[in-house]
Amino acid sequence: MKPNLKHAFEIIHNIEQKGGRAHIVGGAVRDAFLDRPLGDIDLASSFSPDQVMQAFDKVIPVGAEHGTVIIRYKGESYEITTYRSETEYADYRHPDQVEFIDSIEDDLARRDFTINAMAFNSAAELIDPYGGKTDLERKIIRAVGVPEERFKEDPLRILRALRFASQLRFNLDEHLLQAIRVCAPLLRYISVERKAVEFEKLLAGVGYKRILPLCFSLKIGSFLPIFNKELSLLKKLPAYNLRNMAEVITFYLMQGSAFTVHDWVKEWKLSNRVKHEALHLYDAVKAISFGTEDYDWILYQLPAHLQVHLISVAKALDWKIDESQLAIRYEKLPIKSKKELSFQAEDLIQAFPGSEKGRWIGDSLQRIEKAVVLKKIANEYQAIKEWVHSWNRHEIDS
Ligand code: ATP
Ligand code: MG
Repeated sequence: MKPNLKHAFEIIHNIEQKGGRAHIVGGAVRDAFLDRPLGDIDLASSFSPDQVMQAFDKVIPVGAEHGTVIIRYKGESYEITTYRSETEYADYRHPDQVEFIDSIEDDLARRDFTINAMAFNSAAELIDPYGGKTDLERKIIRAVGVPEERFKEDPLRILRALRFASQLRFNLDEHLLQAIRVCAPLLRYISVERKAVEFEKLLAGVGYKRILPLCFSLKIGSFLPIFNKELSLLKKLPAYNLRNMAEVITFYLMQGSAFTVHDWVKEWKLSNRVKHEALHLYDAVKAISFGTEDYDWILYQLPAHLQVHLISVAKALDWKIDESQLAIRYEKLPIKSKKELSFQAEDLIQAFPGSEKGRWIGDSLQRIEKAVVLKKIANEYQAIKEWVHSWNRHEIDS
């Protein structure tokens, strides 16, 4: 089950019964009004982390020093943070001081945009001191307070503004836009990991085609790894419908860019997940392009969830690719993974009694796997056994 508002209100009532106050805040309030699927539900509370830990059975102290703990409730996680204000951002990164306070209104004041600075109280009444609801209706991203000041506190908010504009198809308020022009260079102080989170959301957002050129004209590219070395990359992106990092990396490599997957991973400090996605995707696209492998073998080796990305890159490269044909072809593969092979390592060892264990086992299994995938041999124990017996002993040992 996903976190839901009903359970979040139960948590709030629970806290009120114990003498505290709590609110649903931020993204969940915004998304509830927009009828978007809710992601995480964040709560803010007058309770300190210690009080929350006493009030609930299962609490994970993820960032208790900043006032944040996670409550596990009915199988889901809810982040709950003590009402706080933030002061003095000397390093452009973290507030030097976090002060716990007693009012939700003051807590909302530290939040970035009006649409993210709304809360629901226990009676599901909206608390909206900055006009977030009106901005939602007008589809505008507007800063809470003076935008330059807010960007100087935390320049990541520049990228956040752009990613919300992309995700929600909103416009940026004129003052905000002006402040981005002035403050964009402050992005150099922001860690690449934080930038990557926002940039990936921006890319995946429905409005990215409008926002990426805006990023280019606002000179945001100068503060994004790799794009800062080849500014035209950012400008080119919208034309190609590329929606995640693995697709972008693969596409530019196919276009002859000098940046390898490892360069992207290193410069953007990308996760292992993205790294493997990019490596798999690039292998597949390259193999198709150079015709070095059979199509079915390429399809088989590509993790199934990357097929959509293969299609995106193929389209960006202007290949004529038939999506439904690809899906049908995948469905018709005799096996989808090694586990489905009717002949496993122990069968192989039995087939060659007396052989030492070693690399030959893996190599031979892959030979069988490939033959089965390419329908050169049926996935039947007996048929494979006979085929394996026909192999030259020499071949195996070498
Ligand atoms: P998403 O659905 O993408 O998670 P979100 O609005 O929940 O969107 P988060 O990054 O999860 O965004 O942050 C939760 C809330 O915390 C925001 O809605 C906002 O109120 C506040 N917030 C997060 N990051 C900042 C920031 N850098 N500056 C000010 N407020 C922030
Ligand atoms: Mg969130």
